[in-house]
Amino acid sequence: MGLANWQYRFKSLAWMAVLTAGLVNSPCSFAADGLLAEHGPLKVNLLSLTDFTPAEKTKMYQAAEVLERVVNSEEFRQAVLNFTYDGKKQFVDNKGMTNEQIYETIRRGNEVLIGKDDETMDYDLTLYTPPFWKKRTVVGYTYGNTLRIWVNRYYFTDYTLAEVAANLAHEWCHKIGFDHDFQRTARRPYSVPYAVGNLVGELAAKMLGITPPGNGNTMP
Ligand SMILES: [Zn+2]
Repeated sequence: MGLANWQYRFKSLAWMAVLTAGLVNSPCSFAADGLLAEHGPLKVNLLSLTDFTPAEKTKMYQAAEVLERVVNSEEFRQAVLNFTYDGKKQFVDNKGMTNEQIYETIRRGNEVLIGKDDETMDYDLTLYTPPFWKKRTVVGYTYGNTLRIWVNRYYFTDYTLAEVAANLAHEWCHKIGFDHDFQRTARRPYSVPYAVGNLVGELAAKMLGITPPGNGNTMP
């Protein structure tokens, strides 16, 4: 911890020096090693909740709080940095990024459609009740051209806070540009949305002292 802390302090001093020299005005500049020189806590912001009852809103706010605690934890950082696929430290469909770069991308909180490093996971959520014949087809869905995420009320109602947090993490990874196989392939659980969703689910369950969710293969 001592060394890590020292490195962190050193980096932030270096960053301040650059800032003072007036070379950058963005609060999220890169250090020479390509990692963020400094970042504050990653916030979770529920921009809008559509068609939620007051009780459902409360549950979603609690899940958002759990998510925020998990993504800011050292356990989460370690889990992302040390994630392996095929014997190597890597994610599937990683857009050419190392685990470190994926972690930094998450920390920047830059949704493709917002285009700003605001260190915030922004959510626009709509709860919907699917017709009974496709009650359990998907946990939720979203599209590339909108920030909105549609959440299936049947799953949301049954889910623990850890599972809701996992689903929020999965969907948000799409918002920062990561994708996965559409089909249920062997490699899909190692994609950023699935893997990060699963890590959040596991860590959240540990934090809450409840049974961890399964490996999330029902997520869209
Ligand atoms: Zn997905």
